[in-house]
Amino acid sequence: MDENVFRNELIRDILTRYRRIWALNHAESVLGWDMEVYMPKEGITERSVAQGELAVLSHELLLSPSFVDLVNKSKRIENLNEFERGVVRVLDRSIRIAKAFPPEFVKELAETRSKATSVWNEAKRKDDYKLFEPWLDKIIELSRKAADYLGYDEYPYDALLDLYEEGLRVRDLETIFNNLENSLRPLIKKVLEESWAPSKHPLEKERYDVEKMKIANVEILKILGFPIGLRSRIDISPHPFTTEFGIKDVRITTRYEGYDFRRSLLAAIHEFGHALYELQQDERFMFTPIAGGVSLGIHESQSRFWENIIGRSKEFTRLIYPILSKYLPFLKNYSVEEIYKYFNIVRPDLIRVEADEVTYNLHIILRYRLEKLMINEGVKAKELPDLWNEEMERLLGIRPKTYREGILQDIHWAHGTIGYFPTYSLGTLLAVQIRAHIFKDIPDMYELVLKGNFTPIKEWLKDKIHRYGSVYPPKVLIAKSLGEALNPEYFIAYIREKYLGSK
Ligand code: MG
Repeated sequence: MDENVFRNELIRDILTRYRRIWALNHAESVLGWDMEVYMPKEGITERSVAQGELAVLSHELLLSPSFVDLVNKSKRIENLNEFERGVVRVLDRSIRIAKAFPPEFVKELAETRSKATSVWNEAKRKDDYKLFEPWLDKIIELSRKAADYLGYDEYPYDALLDLYEEGLRVRDLETIFNNLENSLRPLIKKVLEESWAPSKHPLEKERYDVEKMKIANVEILKILGFPIGLRSRIDISPHPFTTEFGIKDVRITTRYEGYDFRRSLLAAIHEFGHALYELQQDERFMFTPIAGGVSLGIHESQSRFWENIIGRSKEFTRLIYPILSKYLPFLKNYSVEEIYKYFNIVRPDLIRVEADEVTYNLHIILRYRLEKLMINEGVKAKELPDLWNEEMERLLGIRPKTYREGILQDIHWAHGTIGYFPTYSLGTLLAVQIRAHIFKDIPDMYELVLKGNFTPIKEWLKDKIHRYGSVYPPKVLIAKSLGEALNPEYFIAYIREKYLGSK
């Protein structure tokens, strides 16, 4: 194939102009990463202004009439190749979203988010929901307004879902989540009663040496083939994340709490999955709008694949056992089998981020139902804590005693990102579906894992998903690569097989 996949003159013009927007985004990513990883506390005042001004600049470039005009013209060209069409789709979507909101609204939303986040921090610390309640009402009101500005066919919530997962609708989630809930609730009960998986483990309390754990994480990431120093780094932040400055500079973080080492290790492996998606893209997309993973849901499927499907497997546990026991001397008293159990503890927990792979999706279903009520039905913040607690009890059989371990636990609503949560479930479900499809092509997948040979698995992911960047919308990519739509049945079968040993 030609070195340059972008042949149309107009598309080439667009990409030349786009490079400047790309450069601003690149700079913004570096600032954001530095803010989380290195910036001293008081740097925040100047940093937020710098980030705000850069965002305005890139917004201006995207919406400059001559640029919008080029993109509109390109929509009428008929013989574009799939990559060129991808460029047009992504830019058209970005312009549509950027144009939807009047400047006063953008300003009000940004100010509300920042204030709501600081109030949320205080409310969570004091366990005082009343403090946060008026701000949540304000966020709900602005989100409903945002949905109106964006437009929708069926439900206002559809407009918000689409912001985080292109093409995702309430209609899709109703089917997925209702099926999932119906199968999962009895299954969880059975897992808790009959599975080999423990509900707690002594290793959760075991303290480790942070400096040694850092070396263990790096050695394990090297086995996975993470190109540290060449195209990537691993650093520390309390909330682990991945950021890509481009295809050749992708960075991850993990956390070190000093006890319960799987949290640090599995976070690093999770972020490795996100990073690999960015690292394995077609390099010809560099500097273009189709570089970068296509959606949050597809991205999360990659991180969950490495965290759950590989990281929590018995073969992987066996592979990394020598490294772990070298740096964590207390593991001498534990067999591979015991560590495998520790990696796969199952217990209904009030906190989403502590949830295991069996119960995790119910946390998302709860949030999805509440968000739907807020946005489609206009339910007020005052009513939400009770709704939260009732739904928690119904889904997981446990009830929060504090707001902190209930409705105040996540930052997302304070950030104004209503519509984001469902992408976590999409990723978790899709990871399992991808596993089933890899098995068809690589039946000895877990034998390869045991040998530390990840190349065929990485090549599969590259070939089916990574190399396409954002060329296709998520649903189209899934259909093209898997030959079917997202289907939660794979997840149910996987949980049954893994935790109950039956197909
Ligand atoms: Mg993630």
